[in-house]
Amino acid sequence: MRVLVIGGGIAGTATALGLHKAGVDVTVFEAHPDTAEDIGAFLTLASNGMRALAELDATAAVTAVGFPLTSLRLLDSKGTEVTHAPLGEADDPALRYRCLRRGELNAALQGEAVRRGIRLRHGARLVAVTDGPDGVTARFADGTTATGDLLVGADGLKSAVRRLLFPEARPGYCGQRVYYGYTGTAPVTAAQGAITMVRGSATAFGYTVSPQGRTYWFARAGGGPLPAAAAAAPSAGLRAQLLPLLREDRTPAADLVATADGEIMVVNAMEMPLGAPWHTGRVLLAGDAAHAASPATGQGASMALEDAVVLAKAVRDLPDPERAFTAYERHRRPRTEHNITVSGGLSRGTRAPSRPAPVAARPAGPDERLLRQLAWDTPLSPEPY
Ligand SMILES: Cc1cc2nc3c(=O)[nH]c(=O)nc-3n(C[C@H](O)[C@H](O)[C@H](O)COP(=O)(O)OP(=O)(O)OC[C@H]3O[C@@H](n4cnc5c(N)ncnc54)[C@H](O)[C@@H]3O)c2cc1C
Repeated sequence: MRVLVIGGGIAGTATALGLHKAGVDVTVFEAHPDTAEDIGAFLTLASNGMRALAELDATAAVTAVGFPLTSLRLLDSKGTEVTHAPLGEADDPALRYRCLRRGELNAALQGEAVRRGIRLRHGARLVAVTDGPDGVTARFADGTTATGDLLVGADGLKSAVRRLLFPEARPGYCGQRVYYGYTGTAPVTAAQGAITMVRGSATAFGYTVSPQGRTYWFARAGGGPLPAAAAAAPSAGLRAQLLPLLREDRTPAADLVATADGEIMVVNAMEMPLGAPWHTGRVLLAGDAAHAASPATGQGASMALEDAVVLAKAVRDLPDPERAFTAYERHRRPRTEHNITVSGGLSRGTRAPSRPAPVAARPAGPDERLLRQLAWDTPLSPEPY
């Protein structure tokens, strides 16, 4: 079995780690010439994503970068602390939430893939896919081709694989712009390992301070999608867009952004429509290519890591591509579409942000179904558990 994975981001490299662990011959094709793509942005991996990494034996590679988050503080629009509670599976060092720069997470996963002997080609931008009875062929912008038994489109929100096979399935704007940046001069102090969320009148704001004293922050604000030229504005222009919204409240957010010394970035939050197709013939979509969600729940990367484990188990345990892809989709679609719905609702303001549940009311860990889906030694059933 030879598998071509298109995209060397989170879903693609993790899928390659899973397939390789399952004994499959896998090659990753990444459009960018190096690992440093989108180095500016940061994200948090949740405990469920860290659990998927553990099943791929990749905990050590990822915990070598970034820093752990163990508690969540919630402030109201007056800056008053509403709650401060443990976050996820904070007691287990391997499963704690983790905050990382996207570039360093990609580099860690790609480095681990290469260390295990997985082939990874940079500068390979897919431009065409030909699916046939005996195999699937990918063609790249440099004129080269590769043929395999299966092809996984893990090429993100703007997936070329999806555009070629399902041109009608397109992501849409979900009502928020997301600003984010860093500062070394923030007028805030934060307990080590705490992430603070501020429920502002016009924004949802969050920040955390790294062990090196650098503050990572983001703000989600409503309004129409920013045109490309406005999104590419210099940091001073983006700061000027954001500050009036933050100054409506008496929270640390406005001062933090006003003093931010690093670059400020902004993206339009996008999501895939529910029910979009995921597979045809020998080709399957994974990660954001299949089920991109608004960033509000902070689950996109963790969902991509879960995909990787379940897809590898499906290919390992089920006898042909059609059955493997169908089982994968049955297991993954309800969970990922729930995330699209909840996250989109938060972005559109149609769903109130949930407070962290009181410690006593919180379930002890993840649900049993997810544990079975992810447990490497548990065979993947053709039907959801
Ligand atoms: C502002 C923002 C904040 C977010 N914060 C969080 C967070 O805190 N926690 C979280 O879990 N998620 C977060 N997310 C979501 C998360 O970033 C995505 O869900 C995740 O990156 C999806 O991984 P992926 O591998 O599917 O796609 P990507 O990470 O986009 O990777 C796709 C890869 O495919 C490559 N590629 C693209 N086209 C081609 C081609 N034609 N040929 C070859 N290669 C190609 C790209 O170069 C890239 O390396 C956030 C998203 C945004 C926008």
